[in-house]
Amino acid sequence: MYLKSIYAALAGITLSASYFINLANAGTIYDFDIRVNFDSGLTNSQQTVFSDAENLWELFIVGYRDEFPGPGLDISASGQNIDGVGGTLGKTGITYGLFIPSYVYATEGTIQIDSADLLSIETAGNLFHVVMHEMAHAIGFGILWGPTLNDLLDSAGNYIGQYGLETYQLSNPEATFVPVEQDGGPGTAGYHWNEPYGGGLSELMTGWLDPNTTISLTTINSFADLGYVINPNFSVEQVPEPSTLVIFAFAIMGLFSRKYNKQYRN
Ligand SMILES: [Zn+2]
Repeated sequence: MYLKSIYAALAGITLSASYFINLANAGTIYDFDIRVNFDSGLTNSQQTVFSDAENLWELFIVGYRDEFPGPGLDISASGQNIDGVGGTLGKTGITYGLFIPSYVYATEGTIQIDSADLLSIETAGNLFHVVMHEMAHAIGFGILWGPTLNDLLDSAGNYIGQYGLETYQLSNPEATFVPVEQDGGPGTAGYHWNEPYGGGLSELMTGWLDPNTTISLTTINSFADLGYVINPNFSVEQVPEPSTLVIFAFAIMGLFSRKYNKQYRN
């Protein structure tokens, strides 16, 4: 086992590369544990939304594959001035990673929500959705797909990870890949399912926000390709028939225009 740094740059943010993780300090855990550490700029209610998102991801993702004693994931969450009202609403990056022969894991990440937009996002009922989306990236969705990382993309940039693809094939039997977004510019292209594939227009992990957000089993099971154990209730390894697929609706209130969303869904 050896450790390297992960350098992540998403849509206008460049996070410092980091160089090592101290496993002794990180502790040894077998269950997947997200620890959200709150920096400045988030009210109590906004922090609660982060905690809710943490809990839901920990419901979907329960451990490390191969009984690997993973270090968990520390996320630094804050409200910070990014670019004023509108435009970019949130930024996510992975700042530390753990490379083992079989997988590359995120161990530390940052999620920043633009302080100029935070209250309006919250008031519109979209903060949970936005944080769920960004937290997925912090765990590794999109960011850790590349050839030097978990190597889950084909030469055209589409997703060929085993478990995500198997789940997608339950409803798309002829598919040989899950289409990945190639439009939208840096931070969107290459980091999301190509809407409406991967779970439909409303899917959480497409590049654009749509009303009545849902999360597909393809999204959930894609984390198995990043080295995680999926809750058996949602795992493609445990789900024999498409009829048992469950889609979660988040009952998102309020609508954004696609163009507006295109700017912030990083
Ligand atoms: Zn995104």
